[in-house]
Amino acid sequence: MKWYSHEIADVLEELAADPSMGLSEEEAAGRLATWGRNELPEAKNDSPIVKFFKHFHDVLIYVLLVAAVITFILQHYIDTGVILAVVVINAAIGFIQENRAEKALEGIRKMLSVKAVVLRSGKRTSIQAADLVPGDIAYLRAGDKVPADLRLFDAVNLQIEESSLTGESDAVEKKTALLPEETVLGDRANMAFAGTAVASGAGAGVVVATGAETELGKISSALAAVEKLQTPLLKQTAAFGKLVSMIIVLSAVALFLIGYWLHDYATGELLLAIIGLTVAMIPEGLPAILSIILALGVQTMAGKNAIVRNLPSVETLGAVTVICSDKTGTLTKNEMTVKSVILESEEFDVGGVGYSPEGAIQKNGRNVSVQDQPMLERFLICVKTLNDSHLYKEGDSWKVSGGATEGCLLTLAEKADKEIEIYPLASKIPFDSSYKYMAALVREGSQKWIYVKGAPERLLEMIPSAERGYWEEKILDHAVRGERLLAAAVKPVPSGVESIGHSDLQSGFTLLGMVGIIDPPRDEVIESIAQCKTAGIRVKMITGDHKETAVAIGSKLGIGVGLKAIEGRELETMDDEALAQAVNDFDIFARTSPADKLRLVEALQKQGHICAMTGDGVNDAPALKRADIGIAMGIKGTEVSKEAAEMVLVDDNFNTIVNAVKEGRRVYDNLKKTILFILPTNVSEGMLIFVSILLGATIPLTPVQILWVNMITAVTISLAIAFEKLEPGTMERPPRKAGSRLLSGYSMFRIAFVSILICGGILWMNTVFTARNYDAGTLQTMTLQALVLSQLFYLFNCRNESRFALNRDFFSNKAAFFVSGLLIIIQLGVTYVPFMNVILATEPIGLSNWIWPLLIGLSVFILVEIEKWIVNRVMGNRLERKSEKGDKGGR
Ligand code: ATP
Repeated sequence: MKWYSHEIADVLEELAADPSMGLSEEEAAGRLATWGRNELPEAKNDSPIVKFFKHFHDVLIYVLLVAAVITFILQHYIDTGVILAVVVINAAIGFIQENRAEKALEGIRKMLSVKAVVLRSGKRTSIQAADLVPGDIAYLRAGDKVPADLRLFDAVNLQIEESSLTGESDAVEKKTALLPEETVLGDRANMAFAGTAVASGAGAGVVVATGAETELGKISSALAAVEKLQTPLLKQTAAFGKLVSMIIVLSAVALFLIGYWLHDYATGELLLAIIGLTVAMIPEGLPAILSIILALGVQTMAGKNAIVRNLPSVETLGAVTVICSDKTGTLTKNEMTVKSVILESEEFDVGGVGYSPEGAIQKNGRNVSVQDQPMLERFLICVKTLNDSHLYKEGDSWKVSGGATEGCLLTLAEKADKEIEIYPLASKIPFDSSYKYMAALVREGSQKWIYVKGAPERLLEMIPSAERGYWEEKILDHAVRGERLLAAAVKPVPSGVESIGHSDLQSGFTLLGMVGIIDPPRDEVIESIAQCKTAGIRVKMITGDHKETAVAIGSKLGIGVGLKAIEGRELETMDDEALAQAVNDFDIFARTSPADKLRLVEALQKQGHICAMTGDGVNDAPALKRADIGIAMGIKGTEVSKEAAEMVLVDDNFNTIVNAVKEGRRVYDNLKKTILFILPTNVSEGMLIFVSILLGATIPLTPVQILWVNMITAVTISLAIAFEKLEPGTMERPPRKAGSRLLSGYSMFRIAFVSILICGGILWMNTVFTARNYDAGTLQTMTLQALVLSQLFYLFNCRNESRFALNRDFFSNKAAFFVSGLLIIIQLGVTYVPFMNVILATEPIGLSNWIWPLLIGLSVFILVEIEKWIVNRVMGNRLERKSEKGDKGGR
């Protein structure tokens, strides 16, 4: 049926819908069973088998497969088997991990599922958009995603952005009138389509199509595939993997030639050694472990009220250098209370706290009667009439639905000693933070008025300039106390006027009065802002409120103390250079509009900042998209803003942002520690074989033994680092530079240093025991244990990057001890269980033969700690000298 070309009455009848009552719950449930859920069919993902085999598509795996083929030709079947087993286990770990990460992200996306406001059994309720059925009556507001295809029967200044459907990025004006049958999709003004976004205004309609039946469902039979799980860091490691395999191939060829020409190795033995070298140098477990750490990070953050929508954001969070935050509700409690009412001739104080209508309107400590105060009554009528929120009692506490700013005005009206009237609205301009007022055409008996309420500065522009002086004084007076100000004004219009627009709000108004509202800062935020300061992160407050109000709140929170604030309109006239200066000089941006946010983000990014920006409205979306980390509000945020954001705050709280940054830093540190931990194993094994061949000595380990060491350390002890807690001092150092190299010069030094220690120790041990005529099996077993024990000890070095390992937090990571215990048991098994002896060519060794492996491990631990100490001293001295120089230069 072509819904747009039928009268709304016919549409309603056809769908058995009732615009005054909506569907009953039973009816809706029945229809849901017939029509199915309002969801687009899921994208066809690769089958599990294809996904599994995709994990074989990796240069390093190809190298291992070639090694398997060569060992097979040489008839070393155990080696072939073990190499293949490693390849398969590796793919399996990758596969399971990918699945888990996808599931976690999917679950998180579900938490963000779209809501829809519908009429059910006569009551407006918010339901999951997926539960909508044809015949439902649904409401639209600015910032909503249209939840299904609707035939509109009510549209007030309703503008919808339909680019997802038509490609047209300008919002289109919606009307309810009938349209001819040949109207094309883009011109169907009486329809709202699923997946498009309400740019402004409000409306209502009846659901005519859901799920795959919607226009969006028809054009996109499948949703875009699940996002790629690549992150900058994982990309860096993939590139690193390619580099490693190049090095491996080159050194393998070189080694073969050296071994063949210089020493008289048999070809078979030499090939086996080369294969040993190859498998030794490949960090088989690394990619899987890195993505496990990232996925665990996403889960931890979700547990702390920060929903991160993709893996790369976890890394970016750790590098954030500036957080731009909204004030209301994020830095403050969003518990608004009117404290004062200011009229043309007098001021009143208002008692009570919160939304409970207890307390009274007073003058000089005495309750006033609205009866005696006609101007006060008129003001209250105006703010109660121009109000979309709802005040109600739940248990013992009073709550508001809708905006807090409007809710507190209802409470104010309830505090009057008589019931305040409301008048019917004929036409309405909803509030928007870009123009900062709300207006309506109101019928009061036979007279018509335009009522407007909003930011005082905006309303002052609508009254004669001679009257402004008094109000400007009052605004300043109350703003410096940190009060949020809101004014109301009226203007009579001829009775013939049926609708109003912005052009009717230019002049001719009389200001009725203002209210001063307090919204206390969140206590916990003060501390987290102080923490940001020590962590080298700048916090900027971006608010629509008055400058003085913002400065007063800022000084309570510790934002912009000692600095001035700047207003949105001043930013507008600035060129790029002046703006760059301004974003450096100011921390408080007042009277801003959403468009200013975008300019601020861009200016900050141009100066190399990694910028996190909060937002909740539709017009915040561009700034959220542009920011490195766009942060949407879970409670008061619109669907459109949530979709544009990388992170959603479940509790709208600034604290949650700081916690997420902390977690981001922890995760990044742990990724680095993991790499620092794993690589020396590979390098030292490679060195061992390389040096042995150069010297023409026996090869100290078989390929199978090498694979064993790599795999067993990867799946046990290296996982422990993922659970490493935040190091003290992490929030006292400046943010990491974005795009900085994964392995710093120091990290490379550390890897080389540890590799040389391990390799040197083992070579020494081998020389000593070869001289004592130990057999190859025993020697290889000792070498194997020395490698594993060195890693085990080195784990405890790596848990802290530069801090002494034996510190107060030594026992804080239980996982480290659990996996260490596990590893020791497994290693005992390898040494003393007969069938393991067969597979790994090991031999049971006597107790005294454990001494050398243990000593090698212990000395690695001690020497690395000494190295840390020396480096700390040298670096410390250098920093001191630098800061001394800086001080002198600065003064
Ligand atoms: P934030 O600090 O999070 O940016 P804000 O509340 O400071 O939010 P806006 O919501 O844009 O910023 O409000 C700006 C000004 O608009 C307020 O100071 C107030 O005077 C006025 N205002 C806010 N809400 C309404 C409303 N519902 N109706 C009329 N005026 C409003």
